[in-house]
Amino acid sequence: MNPSPSDPSGGGRAQGSASEIRFLEEAARLATENVLQSEGGPFGAVVVRENAIVGRGVNRVTARPDPTAHAEIEAIREAAQTIGRFDLGGCVLYVNCDPCPMCLAAAYWARIERIVCGAPSSLAAEAGFLDVALWKEVQLPPEERRLLVERIDLPACRQAFALWNQSKNKIHY
Ligand SMILES: [Zn+2]
Repeated sequence: MNPSPSDPSGGGRAQGSASEIRFLEEAARLATENVLQSEGGPFGAVVVRENAIVGRGVNRVTARPDPTAHAEIEAIREAAQTIGRFDLGGCVLYVNCDPCPMCLAAAYWARIERIVCGAPSSLAAEAGFLDVALWKEVQLPPEERRLLVERIDLPACRQAFALWNQSKNKIHY
């Protein structure tokens, strides 16, 4: 069966080792707690490095308020603080539900090695969240998307890149 465009797991469903199930259960526990305490959406995530949790996150969008405070982003931020690096290479992200496009991109930026998730995006969509709609949207040609990106190519906008390219002090990421 081909994966649906809204299934970022690619349709693959692994069995999972005992430790993987334990970490996924911790992400699920965080998600459940978040709803029970009326703190936000039904999402929880943990970042694991060398078999230990280095970051936990729950959805804090409405509580903070912060539209980007998804569980995965929160867990990645905490993990980076714990490790003291922006590069989370070698880390695994466990989420109780498939990541949205923003969180998948954040995992790429963080150099997360693997993502293990539980429930499918369709469950989040049924609960009223944008996940499936967003996955469809990002796969459209740019001119067909609801949110258009317009370009005004000012020379001033390119100046920082010229400086960056010449900089001796920059830290690549
Ligand atoms: Zn997200």
